[in-house]
Formats: sequence, C-alpha cells, structure tokens
Amino acid sequence: MPNIALLPGDGIGPEVTVAAVEVLNAVATDLEYVEHPVGGAAIDAHGVAVTEEAMADAKASDAVLLGAVGGPKWDTNESGAVRPELALFRLRADLGLFANLRPIKPLRALYDASPLRRELIEDVDMLIMRELTGGLYYGERGTKDGRAFDTMVYTVPEIERIVRAAFKAAKSRVTSVDKANVLDTSRLWREVTTRIHAEEFPNIELEHELVDACAMKLISAPRHFEVIVTENMFGDILSDEASMLTGSLGMLPTASLGGDGPSMFEPVHGSAPDITGQGVANPVGMILSAALLLRHGLGREAEATAVESAVDKALEKGIRSRDLGGTATTAEVTKAVLEEL
Ligand code: NAD
Repeated sequence: MPNIALLPGDGIGPEVTVAAVEVLNAVATDLEYVEHPVGGAAIDAHGVAVTEEAMADAKASDAVLLGAVGGPKWDTNESGAVRPELALFRLRADLGLFANLRPIKPLRALYDASPLRRELIEDVDMLIMRELTGGLYYGERGTKDGRAFDTMVYTVPEIERIVRAAFKAAKSRVTSVDKANVLDTSRLWREVTTRIHAEEFPNIELEHELVDACAMKLISAPRHFEVIVTENMFGDILSDEASMLTGSLGMLPTASLGGDGPSMFEPVHGSAPDITGQGVANPVGMILSAALLLRHGLGREAEATAVESAVDKALEKGIRSRDLGGTATTAEVTKAVLEEL
C-alpha cells in the first residue's frame, strides 16, 4: 500500500490539504497517510521547523505532499531564530530533490484570466525543469570591504542527472537554457547536455537557447516550448515569468523530484495569511499537486489525468474561487471537482 507523508503546514496549507486528500481518496482507495506538522505548526508544537520523526516518515514514504509553511507569527529577523522555511530546505536537501518541475498549462476555462492574449496562450503545455540544489544559490558567497561575491558552480554529475530527467519527461523536444556566450558553467552545461542527448536520447530534439532570448520567447511564442531545462537561478526567474501564462498563483502545482527516494509535491503558493481561516482558499494548486503525486510519485498516469481533467471540467462549468473573481468556497470548488471525477 503506498504511503503518503502528509505535511499540511501553516495558514491555508491545512485547508487545501483536506481538499487534496479528498480528491486522492476518490481516485485511489489504497493510500495510507502519515501526518506531521511542519513549519510554524512544528515550531509551536516541538520548537523545530521539522521533527526527526517527520523526516524519518518522509524518507520512508512513497511520496510527500506538503501544503505551505510560514506566516507573520513566525516572522523574525533575530539571528539564529528557528524559521518555518527551514522545513523546506531540510526536506529538499535530505531527500536529494534536485529537480523542480513546474508544469505550465493554462486551463481552457481560464484563458481570459491571463494578462496575455488568448491566441498566444491557447494550447500552451510546457514543463519547466529547474535544477534545485546547485548553482548560484548554493555556491560560496561573501561581503567584505564594500565588495560582495556569489559563485556559480556546477559539476558534470549535477548537470547529467537534471538533463536526463528532462529528456525522460519529454515526448519530442527539450530546450536547454543557458548563458553559454558568457558563463563557463553554461558552456559545461551545454557540453554535457549535448553529450547526454547524443548518447542516450537521440530521438528527442534538443535545442539550446540563451536565457535572455528564452525570456522573450516565453511571452512571444510560449507554444513553442515542451520541456525547458535550466540551472537554478535561470529556472527560478523563468518559471515565475511563465506562471503568468496561467492567471492565478492559486492554480499552480509543483513537483520536486530526487534520485532514489520519495519526491515532494506542493502548490506554488504560500500560506496566504490574509485569507486563512475563511474557507475561501483556491484548492486547485494543491489538487493539481496531488495529480503530480499520482503521476510522478506513484506512476499512476490514468488517475493523474482524471484529476486534471476533472479540474478543467469543473472550471469550464463556471466554478470560481475568490482569487479568480468568483464566490465559491474551498469546499465548493473541491465538491465541483469531485463531482466531475
Ligand atoms: P502567498 O502565496 O501566501 O500569498 C500571496 C497572495 O496570493 C495573497 O494575497 C494570498 O491570499 C493569495 N493566494 C495565495 N494562494 C492562494 C490560494 N490558494 N487561493 C487564493 N488566494 C491565494 O505569498 P506571501 O503572502 O508572499 O507569503 C505568505 C507566507 O507564505 C509567508 O510566510 C511566506 O514565507 C510563505 N510562503 C511559503 C511558501 C511555501 O511554503 N512553499 C511559498 C511562498 C510563500
């Protein structure tokens, strides 16, 4: 029986987690859950952002489903203070989650919610695969005497594993994004990607794109892309840019995949303290994260697709939470999705 580590977290995290579990149980009757507080909830209960027991259960699980962490109650600039985000860093690092996947597929019913014209975003269906545990964000850095520096380091194995994951996820085309006209790390990235392509995935088309050109093309011709693979910071920026193709933050799921152990699935949004406790959070980002869990965590493609099309149909019939300009509550949106399932 697959075992899911359920980490609802803070704010609207628990509210949207309830919705996702209802949807999961509607398509899979054999799932078992082990639940732990993380983030602020764990700080309140145990004095740490994530307990060793939670880490052990997460590592032993088949997949981790996380709501969101953080909130004003735990915001502090005190050095050495325990912060809710530490739970995310610990989970990503200890589970070896080096690949962050963000699918960008504007839902038909919400084409008009995007700031871009409908004819540009129609049929966009791309996956951004961001390297998550290397590059500029993890390199040596410092500030001294009016001078500051950050370093970008990548090793061959770090590049190999993320581009392999990208080729495996692609049906026909991978766009590798770098800045090879300037950066040594990018030249190594390009060299390794070209070799992995030739040796292991010759049937998939590979194109190299400079990050500045890619930023432009994401807006001018987003339909062009199928899988984009790129290093940590480029991926951070490009995936936020691309998220605007879909309209609302409350809609977006993400998956963080690792090597051998369980993967982690969570919505892109945070704990939304401004609407916590009102029952109005949009559960779609979390429900679609559960769909990614079914696909990438448990290998259940049919169930994942069923959940995604149920969301699409429910929205097509007009259900809208407050962030999409409607009045439906979290429970009403969840019910509408369940009815389509
Ligand atoms: P946020 O994503 O929580 O909220 C931004 C805005 O979007 C708010 O107005 C919120 O009401 C709205 N929103 C977000 N999700 C929504 C949903 N599902 N339905 C309807 N509206 C939604 O970002 P923030 O306000 O910058 O951060 C709040 C807290 O969340 C902070 O403590 C931050 O550190 C934390 N955070 C956590 C994560 C995470 O756990 N992965 C990610 C981002 C922010």
